[in-house]
Order: sequence, then structure tokens, then C-alpha cells
Amino acid sequence: MTGKIAIIYSDDYLKYYLSPEHPLRPQRLALAIRLMKEIGVFNNQNVVLVEPRECEVEDLLLVHSSDYIELVKSLSKTGGGYLDYGDTPAFLGMFEVTRKIVGGSLKAADMINTGEAQHAFNIGGGLHHATRSRASGFCVFNDIACTIRYMQKKYHLERIMVVDLDCHHADGTQNTFYSESGVLTVSLHEDGTYLFPGSGFVFEDGAGEGKGYCVNVSLPPYTFDEAYLYAFNEIVPPLVRAYQPDLILQQSGVDAHYTDPLTSEALTIRTFLNTYRAIHSLAHEVCDGKYLIFGGGGYQIGVVARAWASMLCELLDIPIPEETPKSWREFYESVSRELGLEPAAPIKMGDPEVKVEEKAKKKILEDVELVVQEVKERVFPTHGLDF
Ligand SMILES: [Zn+2]
Ligand SMILES: [Zn+2]
Repeated sequence: MTGKIAIIYSDDYLKYYLSPEHPLRPQRLALAIRLMKEIGVFNNQNVVLVEPRECEVEDLLLVHSSDYIELVKSLSKTGGGYLDYGDTPAFLGMFEVTRKIVGGSLKAADMINTGEAQHAFNIGGGLHHATRSRASGFCVFNDIACTIRYMQKKYHLERIMVVDLDCHHADGTQNTFYSESGVLTVSLHEDGTYLFPGSGFVFEDGAGEGKGYCVNVSLPPYTFDEAYLYAFNEIVPPLVRAYQPDLILQQSGVDAHYTDPLTSEALTIRTFLNTYRAIHSLAHEVCDGKYLIFGGGGYQIGVVARAWASMLCELLDIPIPEETPKSWREFYESVSRELGLEPAAPIKMGDPEVKVEEKAKKKILEDVELVVQEVKERVFPTHGLDF
């Protein structure tokens, strides 16, 4: 069911290096690309590996203020200090590398809109916290928001839908389009009461023209596979079918994984794959397969590699190997030694079952059901959907 898939990557992405102790480790991208190579993704005739280009300053100006762009440019020459209140250090060369990441997302958009590719994955993209005049949550410029504005301008798209799967609320993306009906943003994330950035509550549902076009599925900590999929299936497919977007964007953060050191959700790679499969098939059903995928968070380097390599297998409809290749594990071990992490590489591509205590399970499921009902009551009427 799939046409060409473009994977946008350059080793230059590894220069998005905030600081030696920072949890966002650029090596996770190299590990993911290497795993894709070693399991045969790039041997598939439908896959092309594409170099990103640096975006223009005018592309950044579609979303960001010129003062902020100038600030990033000047701190990029010196490094040092922070771009926000302490999560996003200013680092040498950040202006150039972030322009390349944004340019990678614009390249993906061009390829899809001209028909050169049906799906595209900018593995370095997904910087969803950055907002008009400041960085936030490890994100310097918001490539997702810039890409949406760019496609509105260049390809005159009238309905763009974003499904953000990252464990953190997609606040930067939400804020950019909060009062517009031409962009439907859906974010599934851990409740902001417990997790950065502290927003994304169900009642944040858009303003003015955009009322009902901002959807926040705010999930309790320890949400496990079954509860998450229930929420996803109740909300995402009906909205896609009702909205009929010209194109679907997906932010693919995998930090809702049960082993992620920064968050408290309890998902396995199986659930990520179920969501990718569903969105992929919806894209074919409603928008000729136009499906633009961004990377995102994920602070367990082995999970990032296994989840995104498995996603490519899913898109290509090829089997996911049981085990990670030995040569990849050796590469993983050299990288983790270098980073001072636990060196043992994951042997299985998938995850074991995560045991959740029955009583806790019941309570979480009940909480998730309440959230789902609340979301439906708030936004489904806007889209002519029953709840
Ligand atoms: Zn496809
Ligand atoms: Zn995140």
C-alpha cells in the first residue's frame, strides 16, 4: 500500500548537542539510522535517504519573531547560557544545525506535496515546544509549526492535522495555531500536573475560529498499553475521518515508554507500532497517503532506535526481526561506553509484557475513560461527531 518513503537525515544532525550531561543525546539518531540500515530498510526500493537543506531565515519568520531569531544567531557564535529557564542551553553552532533540522522538515513537506514521496520521516525534527519568541524543552525552533506555515503558503493547504504522540504536551505547536480551524492539533501526553511543560489540559480546546480544533488528551501517569490505545482509538480515527485533512503530520516522541528516565507512562513499543499503523492507514484512507513524520523525544537511546526502525518496517510492510543485529549491538555498546551509560545493548527488537497491578490497572483505565469522555464532549460537536 506504500509509495516512496523519504528518510531525511544527515550526520550534521548530531551537532544538535546541547551539552555533555544533557539527556537529549544526538547519538540516538545515529543509532536509529544504523539499525534501519542493518535490518535492511535502505535496501528496500521504496526507501530513499535524503539530505536536509538549511532553511531560510524567512521560513523561520513564518513562526518566530525576528528578535528571537537574532538572539539564537548571536548566542550560536559564543555558546554558553540558556535560551529558556534552564532546559535548553545555548550551544555553539545551534543556529546552523537547527536551520538544517527545520530545512529537513521543509524538504519532507516539498517531497510529499510534489508527489516525489508519499511518506517522509525527518528523524531530527519534532521540536514541538519552541514558540514564537523563545526556546523551550530542548527545542530551539519549532520545525513542525514552520512546516505547517510553509505548506499553507506554498501549497495552499486548507486542512492540516497534527497528531503528537510525545509524552510531553505539544505546547509550542498548539500555541501557534490556537485560534485557527485550518490546523487541527491533537496531543496525547502525560498530564501536565505531573510533567513538563505543565499544560495540555482537556479544557485547552482552541479559541475563536479555532474552538474545537485543539485537542488535548491528558493521560494519568502509568498509563499502560491497553488504556492508551483505548484513548487513541476513541479519539484519533474519528477526528481524522471527520476533518478530512489534506495531509497528516505525526510527532513520534517515544518518551512515553515504560523505561524512559524523564516521564512516568508505561507504554511498550507494541503500542507505538499500533498507533503508527493506525495513522498510516488513515493517511491512505483520507489523504492519498500524505503522511509527514517527525522524530521527537525519547531519552532511552535503545528505545528510540528500536521503535523508529520498527516503524519503518511497519510502513514498508516488511517483517520486524526478532532480534537486533549483532553488529548494531557492538555499535550500541561503543556509543554507550562513550556516553558513560549502561553498556548492555538490547537484544530483542520488541519489549516484554509490562506488569501492571490489577487494582492500579482498573483505576488508570477508569481515569482514562473519564478523560476520553471529557475530550469528546468538548470537541466532537465541532466536528459533527456523536459522543
Ligand atoms: Zn503507505
Ligand atoms: Zn517529550
